[in-house]
Amino acid sequence: METICPIDTALASEISHLLTSPSPLQVQEYFDNLISTRKCHGIKVKPNGEFGKGVYADLDFKKGELVFKDQLLVGAQHCSNKIDCLVCSFCFCFIGSIELQIGRRLYLQGLGVSMNHESDMETFKHISKDCSKTDSYDGEYDSLLENHDNLENCASSSSKQIFTFPKDVVESLMNGELILPYSKQFSLPPPVPCAGGCGEAYYCSKSCAEADWELSHSLLCIGERSKSSCREALIKFMQHANETNDIFLVAAKVISSTILRYRKLKATHLKEDNKCAKPNVSDHSDISLLLEAWKPVSMGHKRRWWDCIALPDDVDSSDESAFRMQIRELAFTSLQLLKAAIFDKECEPLFSLETYGHIIGMFELNNLDLVVASPVEDYFLYIDDLPYTEKQEAEQVTQPFLDALGDDYSVCCQGTGFFPLQSCMNHSCCPNAKAFKREEDRDGQATLIALGPISKGEEVTISYVDEDLPLEERQALLADYGFKCKCPKCLQEET
Ligand SMILES: [Zn+2]
Ligand SMILES: [Zn+2]
Ligand SMILES: [Zn+2]
Repeated sequence: METICPIDTALASEISHLLTSPSPLQVQEYFDNLISTRKCHGIKVKPNGEFGKGVYADLDFKKGELVFKDQLLVGAQHCSNKIDCLVCSFCFCFIGSIELQIGRRLYLQGLGVSMNHESDMETFKHISKDCSKTDSYDGEYDSLLENHDNLENCASSSSKQIFTFPKDVVESLMNGELILPYSKQFSLPPPVPCAGGCGEAYYCSKSCAEADWELSHSLLCIGERSKSSCREALIKFMQHANETNDIFLVAAKVISSTILRYRKLKATHLKEDNKCAKPNVSDHSDISLLLEAWKPVSMGHKRRWWDCIALPDDVDSSDESAFRMQIRELAFTSLQLLKAAIFDKECEPLFSLETYGHIIGMFELNNLDLVVASPVEDYFLYIDDLPYTEKQEAEQVTQPFLDALGDDYSVCCQGTGFFPLQSCMNHSCCPNAKAFKREEDRDGQATLIALGPISKGEEVTISYVDEDLPLEERQALLADYGFKCKCPKCLQEET
C-alpha cells in the first residue's frame, strides 16, 4: 500500500507550480544576476535546448587556469565525518587548532568503543538538557565535548578502532595545555559556538555564525534560542536522518532556507504596502512570494528521489519496485518528523512528499561532493619533511599521535552541497574542466579548473563519472542521471 501524503492532494496545483522548470528567460535572468553579484566574469550560463542549460566560457582560459569558484547554496558535512573533522558549519573551513583537531578525534574515537549503546532518545534528551548548562569550568573546551553523545550516533568507520591513548593526554591536547611542535604554523580560527545554544554548530567567525543563522540554522538549531516550533521533534528528525540517510539534513536546510527567505520577502512587502497605505495588505501569503523564495532551488535539475536513485547492487531487479516504494516511505517518515518541527502553514507546499522527493532527487542527480583538505595531513607532512635532527626531535612528540590516528590521519572534511553554477555544467567523457581544490582552496566552495585551453564561447564541461571507464560502464552510470552521452568520445567509441 502506497502512503498518500495529504498535502500532495490538497495543494496539487501549488506544488506543480513549484516543481515546474523555470523558463529559459527566467534561467538567463537568474544566472546573469548570480554571476554578476559573485563576480564570476569568466563564464555565462545559457539555456540550451537539449539539456536545459549549460556553462559557457566568456573569456579564453589556459590549461590549469581557474574557470570559476562556486559558493554553496546549502551544504552539510556528513554525519560520520563530524567525528573526524571540526569545521565551520557555514563555510566548512577547519577551525580550532591542530591539537584540537587531533585531540577531539582521538577522544571521540575512544568514546566510540567504550560507550554503551543506550537508547538514542535518552541520549538526545541528555543533549538538550546539557545545552542550557552554564556552569562549565572551561567554556570552549567543555562545550566542544558536550555533543559527543550525538556524534556517537554517527557511525564512523574510524570509531571502530580500539583506542588506547591516555585520556588525560588527549584532554590536554584539546584544552590547549599540550602544544605540538611547529603547530603554530598551521594556525586555525578559534571556534565560535552557535549563538542559539545548541552546542552542535561551530563557526570560523561571527559573520559565518550569523550568516548560517539567517540562512537556515535558526529553524534547525536544537538550542534554547531555536525558532523551530518543537525542539524534541527536531531532535527526532535529526536522529532519524543520522540513522538512515544524512541527505535529509541537507533537504531540511533547503526547506528552512526557503521558509526564512519567504518570511523576509513577506516582511518587505508588508512594509512597502504600508507605505502606500493600501487596504487589505495582509493577503500576501500567496504563491508568488513562495515562488520567489524558492527561485534558487527551482534552478536545480530535479526528479523524484525514489524514481532516480540508482538501484543498489545487492537489490535484485525483480525487487526494484518494492525498493523504490521503501525509499518513498523512508522519505515520508523523515518529512513527517521535519514537519512536526518546523511546519509553516504559509509555506505548506514545501512540506509535500512530492516536493521533498524532488529536493532530495536534486542532490542525487547533481551528485556534488563537498570536500575540504585537512590541515592535520599538512601538519604531519610538514613534520616528515623537516631536516633530520628537527624531525627526530619533533617526532618524539608527534609519532604516538600519528600512530593513534592510524591511516585515517589525513581524512578531509566531506559532505554534500548544492553548487548552483557547477550544477549547470553538462557532462562530457572528454571534459575540458574539472572540480579540483588547489593548495589555497580551504573552504566549502567548488573550484573549477581548465583541463586544457578553453576558448571564449565554448561550453565548459565536466565528467560526472570516471571518464577512463569503458564505454558500456560509462553509459550505464550515466543512465542513472537520465541521459545517453553523445560526446565525441562516446560517438567515436560507438562506431
Ligand atoms: Zn566559516
Ligand atoms: Zn545552533
Ligand atoms: Zn560521453
